[in-house]
Amino acid sequence: MKSFAEIGIEKNILKAIEELGFESPMPVQEKVIPQLLNDEGNDIVALAQTGTGKTAAFGLPLLQRVDLSNKKTQHVIISPTRELCVQIADDIKSYSKYESGIKVVAVFGGASIDHQVKAIKRGAHIISATPGRLLDLINRRVIDLREIKTVVLDEADEMLNMGFREDLEDILSDTPAEKQTLLFSATMPREVKKIADKFMNNAIEFTVGKKNAGADNVSHICYSVHARDRYLALKRIVDFNPDIYGIVFCRTRLETQDIASKLMNDGYNADAIHGDLSQAQRDVVMGKFRTKHISLLVATDVAARGIDINDLTHVINYNLPDELEIYTHRSGRTGRAGKSGISIIISNLKEKRKISTIEKKIGKKIEHLPVPLGKEICKVQLFHVIDRMEKVAADSVEIDEFLPEINKKLEWLDRDELIKKFVSVEFNRFSDYYRNTADLNKPTDDRKSRREERSRGGNSEGYTRFFLNLGSMDNLGPADLIGMVNDLTGVRDIQIGEIDIKKSFSFFEVDSEFKDQLLDTFNKAEHKGRKINLEISDRAAKPQSSGGRRRSNDRKSFSRGGRSSDRGGKSFGRGDKPSGGSKSYGRSDKPSGGSDKSYGKSDKSYDEVITQAVTVEVEEKQNVNLAVVQIIEEVNST
Ligand code: AMP
Repeated sequence: MKSFAEIGIEKNILKAIEELGFESPMPVQEKVIPQLLNDEGNDIVALAQTGTGKTAAFGLPLLQRVDLSNKKTQHVIISPTRELCVQIADDIKSYSKYESGIKVVAVFGGASIDHQVKAIKRGAHIISATPGRLLDLINRRVIDLREIKTVVLDEADEMLNMGFREDLEDILSDTPAEKQTLLFSATMPREVKKIADKFMNNAIEFTVGKKNAGADNVSHICYSVHARDRYLALKRIVDFNPDIYGIVFCRTRLETQDIASKLMNDGYNADAIHGDLSQAQRDVVMGKFRTKHISLLVATDVAARGIDINDLTHVINYNLPDELEIYTHRSGRTGRAGKSGISIIISNLKEKRKISTIEKKIGKKIEHLPVPLGKEICKVQLFHVIDRMEKVAADSVEIDEFLPEINKKLEWLDRDELIKKFVSVEFNRFSDYYRNTADLNKPTDDRKSRREERSRGGNSEGYTRFFLNLGSMDNLGPADLIGMVNDLTGVRDIQIGEIDIKKSFSFFEVDSEFKDQLLDTFNKAEHKGRKINLEISDRAAKPQSSGGRRRSNDRKSFSRGGRSSDRGGKSFGRGDKPSGGSKSYGRSDKPSGGSDKSYGKSDKSYDEVITQAVTVEVEEKQNVNLAVVQIIEEVNST
């Protein structure tokens, strides 16, 4: 393998990239850099994903080829999203840290154009742009590409997916024939080929995807469930992985928003990113995700492009993409920068063929696993609570102050009982939720158990059960009922659960999201001259905000533990805590008795157990007094 110096990178740039930790060129860099540094270099078409080092592959030689005596724009890089466009400009600026005078400007939609116009007028040797804004600036005669030396098309497939074909053709038509063109794409659909054929000459084509070390670190898991259980499966997967930090990919903007809203309602640290959001809204969501204030980003493929986060633990395919090549791109978002990652597919039972096509495409086996059972999830969560308790720094003076009072109140408990109760404060809500939930892997015609499960309210998420005053004697069959739901609400794709048609009345379940709409429209309608009466059934699954569901606040207690402590204990400045105080109320003087046996099992003192457990809970709350009182009340009543 050659070094950066051997493939022609200059001293100042070498110094900057050494500081960034680049020791030797990555495969895409070895191929691209010499081509760009050679005046006779070829055009390049590279099948390369994000994470392969392609930004430096074109960025380093472009910098080196800037002619400082010429103020005009010499190189332009076009990419699909603002995030990627800004990232590219920032990367190139960081490579040019020791090169004075080189001007790199990013221009992208969704931000003030005046500001960008001013920046370009001050000089822009290299422009990183999104297609729409670039064309706009060309049309305004702010940017002139007629003397450009290099055009880089990054994530070309995505630009075409986003409908930028015409813009790209217009832009490229405005560039000189003798320029050098580089095209990078994660996939190579016919549309991309067409662009390459039309605008590129004697291009060298190569693939770097396979050599992407990231992809080798990704393992692939598939959970097959009935389509209507997808969301339940998603929740179980997330609950089974308490430290998850990942992207949930959905197919449409609507689905993305819907799943994110459901997750948020259920108390998960999630949010959505998709094309219907303004740039400012997307920036806020991305900011929260980067800083790990949210651990699940629900995204469309397009919106997720350009997200450059190296430590994602999981990628979840809530749905398989229509174009299976996109799967490779999705899964490549995890397992980056030497870390391992997991790509999960929630598949419909009918998608077996698609899964084996993906296996062939990625050259790897996809492991088929059963969706975790409630009991398995509870075990994982239980040990997660214990782990957090073990790791939490528990010498806080704020708690010491309350220890005498706490000890007095909990005096009647021995160590085992105490541990059980403290753990239960965190854990009961979880076990309540998952107790008696169905096995999602069972054949879906196991209607009885599902009905029972729903009537317990445990697992009927999203569904409300209705009573309707029409039955078989009104000639009402399941198809008629579904038709009525669709026609009266005017919504085609409402999820309908159990339908139970009796002689003169019926019960049926409908996605709770449409509950009010249903009540409103049905109760204004008539059926064959008879006034319809629709009510929420008494035996209904519990409404969304109660029952087995965890509310937002509750969820906090099981919130991605590591994450909350990553942010640091909000309410306690740990640094200024005096040490050693906690021993003063030690239980060494506790009268001996039966309970002493349980003390002997661990090195930890009674006080330490209390302090540690209280700290885990208190960390989540702002007000120490209130938190401590609440915890003691909960422990006493557990
Ligand atoms: P990219 O595919 O351009 O998004 O690059 C992926 C990551 O690899 C970025 O974080 C780069 O900073 C890093 N990178 C690029 N080239 C090298 C290199 N030669 N050695 C080490 N890291 C690199």
